[in-house]
Amino acid sequence: MRHFPFDRPGRFYKGNIHCHSTRSDGLLSPADVAHAYRERGYDFISITDHFLGRYGSTITDTSALRTGDFTTIPGAELHAKGLENGILWDLLAVGLPADFAPIGATENAADLAARASATGAFVVIAHPAWNGVTHSDALSLIESIDAIEIHNEGHTLDSDRGNGWMLADSLATAGHRISAFAADDAHFKHDRFDRFGGWVHVRSESLDPDALLAALKAGHYYSSTGPLIHNVCLSASEIVVECEPASGIMLGGWGTVRSYVRGDGLTRASFPLHMFRSAFFRVTVVTADGRKAWTNPVWLDDRP
Ligand SMILES: [Zn+2]
Ligand SMILES: [Zn+2]
Repeated sequence: MRHFPFDRPGRFYKGNIHCHSTRSDGLLSPADVAHAYRERGYDFISITDHFLGRYGSTITDTSALRTGDFTTIPGAELHAKGLENGILWDLLAVGLPADFAPIGATENAADLAARASATGAFVVIAHPAWNGVTHSDALSLIESIDAIEIHNEGHTLDSDRGNGWMLADSLATAGHRISAFAADDAHFKHDRFDRFGGWVHVRSESLDPDALLAALKAGHYYSSTGPLIHNVCLSASEIVVECEPASGIMLGGWGTVRSYVRGDGLTRASFPLHMFRSAFFRVTVVTADGRKAWTNPVWLDDRP
């Protein structure tokens, strides 16, 4: 049941796990970032300031910003050399301890990701389309990676390179069970509205940061830039999706495998399994105005 959050106990908590503050290159203080998200109805954030020597290589302490109805998970954006194209890796680690040691001068991305993962953090490849992360780049640290950032609001707006599904689908097609997530990468810059555009709905029994982190690690969440998904149900014969009114409900699977329903105000679609020859599927819901929600890849042999 790794990727079936809809029938799990608890409720969904809305969060953004990629944003920056004045502790690195963001324009708002950590307190103002937290305030902005809480005002907007979010339940939690992770401030993922750049973990670089020029910013002191510190994990931004957000523990004082927690309230009864809003919490924070400590995190950071980690950088290392070694992409095939010569560009730096950008990794996120959500749930890092405050004493995470600075990155060594010769530490490569695989060692860094492994070190972050060993702390229990949710370790992900950020904006792969923007950096040009290839399938073989990703394989070099696949054992330490929990997810791929498949929507980055900031890089959707500044370079049209915010969509990471090509890498996530390529890894799933090769059999790697890696999750996917949407986030803002908010810096609160004045010339682009890089916030409140991509988020996760995490299924958890409480707002406790450790419970949210465990749910992220387990894939108990879905991602959105707008619509809600109410249920995804897999039986022996079909996949059923229920959602807010949509103009399309789509399944993507191995290679070129797909199924879809298009229409006005769709709130439910069912897909016969015998038509869908793939070991996994992922759901996309798209609204008439182009906003989307996505499930993680769901593996058929994970069914209850
Ligand atoms: Zn980045
Ligand atoms: Zn970032």
